[in-house]
Amino acid sequence: MSNCVFCKIIAGELPGAKVYEDDKILAFLDINPINYGHTLVIPKEHYETLVDLPDELLKEVILVVKKIGQAVIAELRVDGFNIGLNNGKAAGQLVDHVHFHVIPREVGDGLKHWPSKDYEEGEMDSVAEKIKQALK
Ligand code: AMP
Ligand code: ZN
Repeated sequence: MSNCVFCKIIAGELPGAKVYEDDKILAFLDINPINYGHTLVIPKEHYETLVDLPDELLKEVILVVKKIGQAVIAELRVDGFNIGLNNGKAAGQLVDHVHFHVIPREVGDGLKHWPSKDYEEGEMDSVAEKIKQALK
């Protein structure tokens, strides 16, 4: 899409610190990293969300995500990484071109995980049942 910032990076109309590229996939550094080496992995074809992305292409994208994770551990000498995908506006998706975040992590880097909730009595089973039904 012409007004998509990531499509512009793919087209070379905007700069990007590219770390991996093939005919279908691009990986480049996030401009505002959570930690140094924070990388975004995207399909070159514009799809808005994970559910729009064809399965075959998703498989290729996730393999690149894994490679980037291995690379940051090996070369940036970090201890681990988080993989994230903000799917939809409610989930914090700001750029409407589906992208995986690969976030290098170090022990004691101070980043906190999300706060958690508790289920009421019986609630867990009913939520699980709803999801199970939707998957049928
Ligand atoms: P999200 O909230 O998952 O849509 O995240 C969008 C991400 O894209 C943010 O982490 C931004 O810092 C990043 N971002 C936005 N514009 C650029 C850009 N021109 N180059 C690299 N990363 C970008
Ligand atoms: Zn795009």
